[in-house]
Amino acid sequence: MISQRIQNLSPSATLAMSQKSAELKAAGVDVINLSVGEPDFDTPDFIKEAAKKAIDDNFSRYSPVPGYLSLRKAVCEKLERENNLTYTPEQIVVGNGAKQELANTILSLINPGDEVIIPTPAWVSYVELVKLAEGKPVLVPAHLENDFKITPAQLEGAITPKTKMLLLNSPCNPTGSVYSFNEISKFAEVLEKHPQVYIMADEIYEHINYNKEVCSIAQIPSMKDRTIVINGVSKAYAMTGWRIGYMAAPLPIAKACTKLQGQYTSGPSSIAQKAAEAAYTGPQKCVDDMRKAFERRRNLIVELAKEIEGWKVNVPQGAFYLFPDVSSFIGKKHGDYEIKSSGDYVLYILQEAHVACVDGDAFCAPGYMRLSYATSDENIREAMRRIKEASAKLK
Ligand code: PMP
Ligand code: GLU
Repeated sequence: MISQRIQNLSPSATLAMSQKSAELKAAGVDVINLSVGEPDFDTPDFIKEAAKKAIDDNFSRYSPVPGYLSLRKAVCEKLERENNLTYTPEQIVVGNGAKQELANTILSLINPGDEVIIPTPAWVSYVELVKLAEGKPVLVPAHLENDFKITPAQLEGAITPKTKMLLLNSPCNPTGSVYSFNEISKFAEVLEKHPQVYIMADEIYEHINYNKEVCSIAQIPSMKDRTIVINGVSKAYAMTGWRIGYMAAPLPIAKACTKLQGQYTSGPSSIAQKAAEAAYTGPQKCVDDMRKAFERRRNLIVELAKEIEGWKVNVPQGAFYLFPDVSSFIGKKHGDYEIKSSGDYVLYILQEAHVACVDGDAFCAPGYMRLSYATSDENIREAMRRIKEASAKLK
């Protein structure tokens, strides 16, 4: 009964694990949830006030499909101010989270059989969205030893005449890797030789960046007209539930995505758009405060992770994830548990230590596991204590 298209689609592993952890919690189990990636902070008050005002001011009707002009102007000002990038409001499409704009871009550019280069480990939704568009994901693996970064030579080697798009996610979910301007420039040198390749730059973790070097491939003049910048308010302003993200793109792509969105969902929530406008035009101290808290927690979790025998870790430079290599546990046992994969280890940690994480396999990186440290210092300490204790039982 269900279409082949949807049967071929895997469910989001991050959302599934978070749901599982919520169910265990509801059943009375004291689970610490390090599975889903979302800031634990509340949305700043000035943003909430703007949403309340929007309700009172009757922003209750359909907005234009790509979002209110005032919000698109605010996004252009943000891009100019923070990224030194010039766009017109016609080049901005606002949708239900960065996720919708990623999906819009892929569905608007990818024909059946087109190849999309995805450096891995990669966020769970990329491969699935490419499959939905009947494109062909071409995975290019990076490893812990290189800080999970691919090289320009690897990129060059993956490009064929069928390559339509490169997906670049920096800071990266799930590894926290951040490409420097120099590294991105080297990618641009390769891409200059292949003008048929578009770049989708997912910059949703832009502000959760401990390198402080904010850099977008769109800042390289030869790349700007081939790049679709994706960003939004979910992570920077602790607004995951408000569902506002945007794309900044060459005009024909923005128009195509607006057409698609017009048939699919219309413009996103009017109230949430007014809140996002306040986020972009208001005081930005909250963004910096949250980044500082994430950096402190990054330092804490890396320090505690080094004490877990059998884990290999690097020091992530951005986002709020740790991505240890846990493959040394494969082949070990405790009681009825036998670890045959990182998925088994993640399940063991959930059942034995009551800590929810996500299997690296969901990010095209079996043997690894993802922990989100967007939670309190206390939760991080307790979760890592439990994981250490449970891991030591595996022999
Ligand atoms: N890109 C990456 C890399 C993500 O981790 C996420 C998850 N939040 C998204 C995009 C989607 O974000 P949004 O909440 O704006 O849809
Ligand atoms: N992006 C977050 C994560 O990876 C939220 C869940 C999702 O959208 O996949 O956990």
